[in-house]
Amino acid sequence: MTLEIIRPGDRAYGSVRHVYSATGSPAAVALPRSSVEVARALEFARAQPGPLAIRSGGHGISSISTNDGGTVIDLRRMDAVHHLGGSRLRVGPGARWGAVARAAYGWGLALTSGDSGDVGVGGLATTGGIGLLGRAQGLTIDRLRAAEMVTADGRVLRLSADEHPDLFWAVRGAGANVGIVTSFEFEAGTTPVVARAYVMFDLADPVGFLERWGATVEAAPREVSAFLYVGGGPRPFAQATIVYAGDGTDAATRALQPFVALPGVTGQRAELVPYPEVPLASGAPHTGQQAAVMHGGLATHLDRELAGRLGNLLRSPGVDMLQIRSAGGAINDTAPDATAYAHRHQNFSVTAVAGSAGAAFDAAWGPVREVLDGLYLSFESTHRPDDVHRAFPPATLERLRRIKGEWDPDDVFSQNFDVGVPTA
Ligand SMILES: Cc1cc2nc3c(=O)[nH]c(=O)nc-3n(C[C@H](O)[C@H](O)[C@H](O)COP(=O)(O)OP(=O)(O)OC[C@H]3O[C@@H](n4cnc5c(N)ncnc54)[C@H](O)[C@@H]3O)c2cc1C
Repeated sequence: MTLEIIRPGDRAYGSVRHVYSATGSPAAVALPRSSVEVARALEFARAQPGPLAIRSGGHGISSISTNDGGTVIDLRRMDAVHHLGGSRLRVGPGARWGAVARAAYGWGLALTSGDSGDVGVGGLATTGGIGLLGRAQGLTIDRLRAAEMVTADGRVLRLSADEHPDLFWAVRGAGANVGIVTSFEFEAGTTPVVARAYVMFDLADPVGFLERWGATVEAAPREVSAFLYVGGGPRPFAQATIVYAGDGTDAATRALQPFVALPGVTGQRAELVPYPEVPLASGAPHTGQQAAVMHGGLATHLDRELAGRLGNLLRSPGVDMLQIRSAGGAINDTAPDATAYAHRHQNFSVTAVAGSAGAAFDAAWGPVREVLDGLYLSFESTHRPDDVHRAFPPATLERLRRIKGEWDPDDVFSQNFDVGVPTA
């Protein structure tokens, strides 16, 4: 079959040019259907002038999965989800996490991803995956048992603990630096029904609340994962999504109770739901509709110092929302050197969201950034050179650069927090 390539003027161009957070006008969008076609698309792209973009679900928040005048390799046609037996799944990079959750549920399985069912598999599962089953299951990359990847020179390789183990290490946290993943094999979990609570809070004392929220999350059993979304302005408020992924409604009630005992509860709802109801999805086509930008980082505790700085952030102009996702639990069972995602002692991901980029947002974020400990690449919109040092501690970065130097010496995959190749 010939590789499908869409260009400006083609009828389908309008449906493939943009992503969720940006508009684009690429010169060509290749839509491969197999790893062999991905290799062909890459060869084509390397011969074109202009930038390259790799796209799976098009939900990357740094908007680099489209471009102006370059080539996009769009993996949307590679979206199959297969059951390989037991709790193993094979998933295409172009699948969305909502579809993965629905398919897995049919086989009695659930796999952690994130809070959005619209997010694509490829971007999230090459970076981390901090999800609402995270403290129970680990990061999404921790559930990866094998992958298929197209390298810069067009080879199609199978990666696992025994096959190209260096690339398998790199793909779990820095995948975008080393190749294009064309299929993922995951070990899913076996809790397809979870207890989910929504709790709304009025924050009379945001700093005190954040400290107590942090302590409550850390004290919770690892079956609990909890995400908090805080709106700023003159009267800060918050909404929490809390998931208990374990057996027994009594145990779920006990685990969720400390969250509804926090101050300022204005509403709450808890129910047993099939896991596919947890990652929320709109299925909306991409028109660059979400222009929001984010700054992010990781924290071990929401202590008074950090909570105080977050309180100031919430009062700053240009900041729309703060998101605090639980990490910890099973995520921290994995050794820091076992994957290219090395942050295995932190308990929280902290993200600030603004409607648009600007000096005011950066200035408000500065004091928070100073006290954070590490960076999760998926929640940072800007690409500052020092971000790779925050994302990858020295030993991780050195190993990554060595691997990249071997597999991508021309730095073809430079778009997404480029770690660079060794110079000598
Ligand atoms: C609404 C929303 C909610 C989110 N919630 C969470 C959350 O709860 N937890 C969480 O962990 N993350 C979350 N994220 C972040 C999300 O994980 C990243 O934005 C992710 O990159 C999106 O994946 P994608 O495939 O849709 O992105 P794309 O835009 O398609 O890809 C982003 C980048 O990833 C790289 N990439 C994509 N596919 C591949 C591939 N197959 N091989 C190699 N590199 C590839 C490319 O560099 C690409 O530019 C959220 C994002 C949004 C927009």
